[in-house]
Amino acid sequence: MVRVLYPGSFDPPTSGHVDLVERALNLFEEVTVAVAANAAKQPLFSVEERCDLLAEVLPRDPRLKITSFSGLVVDYCRTGDFGAILRGLRTVSDFEYEYQMALTNRHMDDRVETVFVMPSARYSYVSSSLIKDIVRHGGPVSDFLPEIVEQRIRARMEERAGD
Ligand code: ADP
Repeated sequence: MVRVLYPGSFDPPTSGHVDLVERALNLFEEVTVAVAANAAKQPLFSVEERCDLLAEVLPRDPRLKITSFSGLVVDYCRTGDFGAILRGLRTVSDFEYEYQMALTNRHMDDRVETVFVMPSARYSYVSSSLIKDIVRHGGPVSDFLPEIVEQRIRARMEERAGD
């Protein structure tokens, strides 16, 4: 049985992340989405808020877990007995960074494989940072985000603008 760990910033989760998790549930016995506590330097949402958003937008499935972690992904893999790390590959530009990270992780722990899954083409250019920029400037994002996430981003940006 392979339990896979899907680590990332998820600030915020997008439809691309959801697409990847749905695909992973078809491949693996168990999927754990893990919000990295130290990845994004100035996140829009706290780690707890990102976990809550993921719980709202991801499929209800007993084989799907949502958690958070800090420190190295390979260290976290050992604590949860994960056999693989899942990452998304959107474009060629993702490849170089992901390849570097996968081989570095393998160097630190030879037992952990990184598995790449490509999202549906319609999400292959969606990123959390681009989404935030579009919302900030009042553009449309509903094709790329679950509605609840869009509402929360707008609310958070209004809160911040009022500070
Ligand atoms: P990180 O800071 O770890 O890159 P992200 O939340 O941006 O965190 O991404 C987490 C993982 O999800 C990465 O493997 C990334 O390639 C993947 N990912 C991000 N956006 C998409 C998308 N639109 N489709 C598929 N995978 C994606």
